[in-house]
Amino acid sequence: MLTDYHLHLRPDGEDTPAERYFTAENVDRYREAAAAAGVDDLGVSEHVYRFRQALDLWRHPFWLEQASDDLDAYCEFVRGAGLKLGVECDYVPGAEGRTAALLEAREFDYVVGSVHFIGDVAVDHEGFDIWDGSADPDEVWRRYFEALAECARSGLFDILAHPDLVKVWGRGRPLPERDPRHYYGPAVEAIAESGIAVEISTAGLRKPVGELYPAPAFAAMCAEAGIPFALSSDAHLPEQVGFGYERALAFLGELGVEEISVFERRRRRLESAATPVGGDR
Ligand SMILES: [Zn+2]
Ligand SMILES: [Zn+2]
Repeated sequence: MLTDYHLHLRPDGEDTPAERYFTAENVDRYREAAAAAGVDDLGVSEHVYRFRQALDLWRHPFWLEQASDDLDAYCEFVRGAGLKLGVECDYVPGAEGRTAALLEAREFDYVVGSVHFIGDVAVDHEGFDIWDGSADPDEVWRRYFEALAECARSGLFDILAHPDLVKVWGRGRPLPERDPRHYYGPAVEAIAESGIAVEISTAGLRKPVGELYPAPAFAAMCAEAGIPFALSSDAHLPEQVGFGYERALAFLGELGVEEISVFERRRRRLESAATPVGGDR
C-alpha cells in the first residue's frame, strides 16, 4: 500500500481560486497521476489558512490575505470526489482550543500538522523570511525544533509534516554550527511521547535543499524510537503525485522500516509499503 496524503489540488500563490482547481477534472488528473505512480490511497490536505474559518485561529497578515475559501465547501467537495479528506493545519501556539474545535467539527480522515512560522516570520516564505536581518542560525534551528516539539505534543494532529522544514533553503541560508542532532533530540522525544506519525516527504527533493524531509539522522532517531512514518509528496500539481517515491521507499528500507501509516476517520493503522508479489511497481 502506498499513500499520498499531504497533497494540494492547486499551487500556492496568487490567482489560484478554488473554483478553478476544486473540480472533477482536476481530481481526475491527480487520480491518473496516482495510478501511474502506484499510489493506492490518495487524500487531499489543503492549507487551513486558505479558509475563512482559519482566521479564528490566527490573524497573521499572510493568513488575512489568503483566507478566502469556505472550509465546509472544501470538505464536501473532497468527500464527494471520493478522496480521503485531510487538511494541513499550522500549529498556532496559544490557539490549541480553537484549533481543536475547528478540526473536531469536521470528519477528517487525518490532519497534517505543520510548523511554517516561528512567531510572525516563516522558515519557508520569502515574504516573511525569518532570515531577513541578522538571525542566528543556531537560534533559528533551536526555536524551529522547539515549535515542532510543541506541535507534536499539542495532540491536535495525526501526521507531522515536513519535519525539518527549517532546512528548505539548503545552502541558500546560514546553517547552524552545532550538529543538527542536538536540535533533533528533544523534538524526537516529544514526537515519540505524543504518538504522532512522522511524514517522509519527497517535497524536499524539489526544493533548494534537494533532499527528503526529514534528514537521515532525524529519521534514524525516529525509527529507533519506534515512531510510525507516513508517506507523502506534498504535491501542488498532478505531476508531483508520488514524486520521488523510489527514493523515499529506498530511504525507508535503509531505516529498516517496512510499514507506513494509513488513516481513516483519524484512526491509524500500519500497512506494508512493500511491492506486492507480482506487482510491477
Ligand atoms: Zn507545509
Ligand atoms: Zn503542504
